[in-house]
Amino acid sequence: MYMEAEEVIRFGVEVKPVADAYLCPICQTNRTRFALIYKFVQEVQLDPHTGRVVYEAHELESPLRPDGRLDIDVRCLECDYVGAEMTFIKTQKREAKLAKRGRENRPAASS
Ligand SMILES: [Zn+2]
Repeated sequence: MYMEAEEVIRFGVEVKPVADAYLCPICQTNRTRFALIYKFVQEVQLDPHTGRVVYEAHELESPLRPDGRLDIDVRCLECDYVGAEMTFIKTQKREAKLAKRGRENRPAASS
């Protein structure tokens, strides 16, 4: 069941709690210490010759991914790599799948 009550409000946008495990794709060891980097989009129109801002939207918007979750970046606090959140989630899923397959097919494998 989806828990609305667990949503928190930060910077005026709805932020859903992180629901997936992360694994850093670079150091491959960090699963626990991360910084979440939120993005905000402001539409502007510039004068084509001077670059001066001739219009700016008053509201900042939070970009969403196609799955409806916030489009955020993640910084690994072990090696300082910064990448899209999905990269950290996919790395964790891939590693979990490999570990499972390894246990099933190669019981004597070392890791
Ligand atoms: Zn890392």
